[in-house]
Amino acid sequence: MAAAEGPAARFEHMGLDPRLLRAVAELGWGSPTSIQAEAIPLALEGRDLLVRARTGSGKTGAYGLPVLQLLLRGREAPQALPQAVRALVLVPSRELALQVLRCLRRLAAATDLRVAELGDGDPAALRPVVAAQPDVLVGTPGRVLAQVTARSLVLRHSLELLVLDEADLLLGFGCLEDIKALLCHLPKIYQALLMSATFSPDVEALKELVLHNPVRLCPAQAPLPGPAQLQQLVLRCGTAEDKVLVLVALLRLRVLRGRALLFVSSLPRCYRLKLLLEQFGIGACALNPELPARSR
Ligand code: AMP
Repeated sequence: MAAAEGPAARFEHMGLDPRLLRAVAELGWGSPTSIQAEAIPLALEGRDLLVRARTGSGKTGAYGLPVLQLLLRGREAPQALPQAVRALVLVPSRELALQVLRCLRRLAAATDLRVAELGDGDPAALRPVVAAQPDVLVGTPGRVLAQVTARSLVLRHSLELLVLDEADLLLGFGCLEDIKALLCHLPKIYQALLMSATFSPDVEALKELVLHNPVRLCPAQAPLPGPAQLQQLVLRCGTAEDKVLVLVALLRLRVLRGRALLFVSSLPRCYRLKLLLEQFGIGACALNPELPARSR
């Protein structure tokens, strides 16, 4: 975790609501990470942000804290708006949606803001989630779009904040068309925050669609594990069979412990290796581009 440096890098100096500061303390977040120190003040000023942030950088807090703060601010305004979905967080997968939900709920624990996740399943079965009008809704673009096109979710009059988390994965999982369709159902003006581990040309194109005059943030990333934490070994094998035998031995003798990622050069090899490992009682699953995004 890359902690931010300097005297200004303190949550207490960011103008955050005491209820959010309490939640931050309860989470044990002593000081903001680099990305949080840079993103939170700008987001609180109302700026659109394009942030390079990978998992583990504290990116959920970097957008979650300002989103919750801005919602609290809006709630305390003289003409408070009726209860509605005012912030939408789009994520590439259900797993990430649940992770984001947990983090945002913990940050919002001392407030009366409601955070919900759209979930899996039949769009009709998910209607009660949106009918409850949570302040923040987290979901994949496809699930959110299904609710919007079924008119069980109307965002045009209420949405103030849009977050695209792991934008590079959203695009990699083929969500671009759903995002474009969803944008047609949003109000003309909203604040948008786009987080992405990489700034590929596709992410740049998405930026043009979603963000207005954004500030681009590329905080210093925590260095990759150095030689002390990383060991690289090479074993030269004579034949393809030797390769498999050595691999099975390394796994069975627990030279390789915990989980392992095995890279192979083709799809048939992927399945052959999986079957072979299973024959030796080593649980394995295949991951390849032929699998639907959800099961991946
Ligand atoms: P994220 O990059 O949002 O997935 O966060 C990765 C992990 O860092 C989570 O376990 C967070 O609870 C934790 N985290 C986020 N912000 C901070 C912080 N300022 N100090 C310590 N841990 C943090």
